[in-house]
Amino acid sequence: MEKREFLKVASVVAAGSIILPLSSCTNNQPSGDDTDSKKETTQSTQSFELPALAFAFDALAPNIDAMTMEIHHGKHHAGYVRKLNAALKDNAKFAGKNLEEILATVGEDDTGVRNNGGGHYNHTLFWDNMSPTGGGKPSGDLANAIDGSFGDFDTFKNQFSTAAKTVFGSGWAWLCKGADGKLFVSSTPNQDNPLMSNLAEAKGTPLLGLDVWEHAYYLNYQNKRGDYIANYFNVIDWNKVGSRLG
Ligand code: MN
Repeated sequence: MEKREFLKVASVVAAGSIILPLSSCTNNQPSGDDTDSKKETTQSTQSFELPALAFAFDALAPNIDAMTMEIHHGKHHAGYVRKLNAALKDNAKFAGKNLEEILATVGEDDTGVRNNGGGHYNHTLFWDNMSPTGGGKPSGDLANAIDGSFGDFDTFKNQFSTAAKTVFGSGWAWLCKGADGKLFVSSTPNQDNPLMSNLAEAKGTPLLGLDVWEHAYYLNYQNKRGDYIANYFNVIDWNKVGSRLG
């Protein structure tokens, strides 16, 4: 999936304009009763949907096991989507904004949108960057950008892995492109991400994000977060990551 297609999936869509097989939130449709003028004010209600995975739940095993994938996508990610839609309902601050615009303007008082909008964005990116045929090293422009920003791939990998290991509690590790065009590694707590310009310490465009919440690995790895991080590198689709360079 190219960047534009990813953004299309992750972005706000008018209710019913995209039908995805695993959608769990199809209840925000206008009633269809056009004689009720009050409904007109709700026709622009944003509705996000759970994107389908591009591979089977067991396709990433043994790096990520099938049960973790099924629960993570079908319960956790679906829950973020459902709660995001609920938090956006009748919320004038974010009306008409796409997901990236929402994240760019979300603040400390917007708890539901912050946690669940971040959760939806982060997981959509997470799935889209993984492939059963992933692994290896980046090539082309991404390899050049990593070499130019970190020195070499192994230095980047160590920095990213350390960021992931040292998140205290739940959060994410990131490879981002900054406003100056250079790549950098960062981490965020909970479901925050580097697009949240009012909240993130390091702001940028996420290219790669690794979920280090225990729900992402505990069934298979228990407390061994470091093993999960090491094996995650076996399923990264570097071509997909590189497509986000812009
Ligand atoms: Mn997660």
